[in-house]
Amino acid sequence: MTRIAFLGLGHMGLPMAKNLVAAGHELVGFDVVPAAVDAARAAGITVAASGADAARGAEVVITMFPSGRHVIDAFSGDDGLLAAAPAGSLFIECSTIAVSEAREAHDLALAAGQRNVDAPVSGGVVGAENGTLTFMVGGSDEDFAAAHPLLEAMGARIVHCGGPGLGQAAKVCNNMILGITQIAVAEAFVLGEQLGLTHDALFEVASHASGQCWALTTNCPVPGPVPTSPANRDYRPGFAGTLMAKDLGLARHAIEETGVGAALGLHAEEIYARYAEGPGAARDFSGIIETIRSASAAAQRAE
Ligand code: NAD
Repeated sequence: MTRIAFLGLGHMGLPMAKNLVAAGHELVGFDVVPAAVDAARAAGITVAASGADAARGAEVVITMFPSGRHVIDAFSGDDGLLAAAPAGSLFIECSTIAVSEAREAHDLALAAGQRNVDAPVSGGVVGAENGTLTFMVGGSDEDFAAAHPLLEAMGARIVHCGGPGLGQAAKVCNNMILGITQIAVAEAFVLGEQLGLTHDALFEVASHASGQCWALTTNCPVPGPVPTSPANRDYRPGFAGTLMAKDLGLARHAIEETGVGAALGLHAEEIYARYAEGPGAARDFSGIIETIRSASAAAQRAE
């Protein structure tokens, strides 16, 4: 049994906290939004009056916040989480943030006499509820080993990706592949439509050929071939366009910092940033096919 402070009880954090309680850990939660605190209380989670109060008695502090700024702000200052927790506590930072921000948070933790791993997740809200998340972990061998039993209570696959920040690096690289391939699959279906190819025929060929990928065989952007994909429910997420735009924004940040020539990653970021400002705010990222289809129709009309 570990004494855990869990900060950030939103879409992901609340079900993750519930799984830790179900695994027998002593957990105190906190969120800055009163409605999230009420929902946590209703779910049987013990709630503190502030983040610092929750951290004061903890051996492990888990954070699940919207962005890197939230993490740095919550960690820092005289009344921050790093100052409040007993020296030598393990901070498991699960938010999706920039690699550079994860390393900044790690340095702050070490300077305050605390331990830290970055442990972003994939698997979405369903994975958080079912305890089947994938954790990508960056940190020392010792801290990874200490975090492992807790991550196991929330996830099905826990991968040690290397030193500080490398969990976030794995996450950003994976999601860059996903963002690019989802656009590629959508473009192929729209091109097939124009050439007279049925969705079923293209799916039957590509899903067994070298075009095979998750964006096609699980998140198929047209209704029919994969009955569980968001296309069959009018693109209700799933993984919203805004979240893909956020993750590709982190990819852009990493590309610019390293100077890597990732032209498709940068282009995908632009496409999803525009989508997120429009229909992608409320729709799955595979709904990008509708944008591609209407842009194609407009281009054809202009010819
Ligand atoms: P969310 O906005 O629902 O939850 C974040 C919570 O953190 C909010 O309730 C917010 O009030 C709280 N918060 C912010 N600052 C705080 C502070 N200082 N102290 C306490 N609480 C604070 O977001 P989410 O969907 O749960 O996502 C959380 C993180 O997980 C994000 O970084 C996101 O990119 C990542 N993620 C989300 C998904 C998904 O499908 N939703 C999938 C993978 C990764």
